[in-house]
Amino acid sequence: MVYYYFVCQRKLWFFSRHYTMEDNSELVSMGKLIDETSYKREKKNILIDEEINIDFLKDWKVIHEVKKSRKVNEASKWQLKYYIWLLRNKGVEIEKGVLDYPLLRKREDVFVSEKDGKDLNEILDKIDEIRSLKIPPVISTKGICKKCAYYELCYI
Ligand code: SF4
Repeated sequence: MVYYYFVCQRKLWFFSRHYTMEDNSELVSMGKLIDETSYKREKKNILIDEEINIDFLKDWKVIHEVKKSRKVNEASKWQLKYYIWLLRNKGVEIEKGVLDYPLLRKREDVFVSEKDGKDLNEILDKIDEIRSLKIPPVISTKGICKKCAYYELCYI
C-alpha cells in the first residue's frame, strides 16, 4: 500500500478494494520472471503477518527488494523503508534495506531515520483516508498510466 501511495493514489484505492488486474499486466509478468530467475540461492518471498511480502531477507538483518527499473524509485524506497520500520517495531533488528536492480546491475542502500518513522505514521494515516473514500481519487496525469495494469479501468 505504501508503494501504491507513492505510485498512484487511485491505484491504491482500486487495490485496496481488491480490483486486482495485475495478473493481466505484461510488466508484472516480467517482474515475476526477474524475481524467479534472480538471486536463486536466497530464501525469497517471505510473507509477514499477511501484510508485507519481502523479496528476500539476508540473515534477518538486510531486506532486499528486487526491481526491474528505477522509474518509480521514490515509491520503491518508501516501500522498503516501511518494511524496515515495521520489522523494527516487531523487535527485528534490521540494519538496512537494499534495492536491487538486476537488469541494470545496480544496488541502492536504504536506511530509515527517526524522521522517516514519523513520516511513515502520517503516510499510513493518509492511506487509511484514501481507502475509506467511497469513490476512487480522480486521475492525475501520470507518465506511468499507459503501462499500468488499471489503464483500461481508468481510460476506457
Ligand atoms: S492508469 Fe494511471 S490513474 Fe489509473 S490507476 Fe493506473 S496510474 Fe493510476
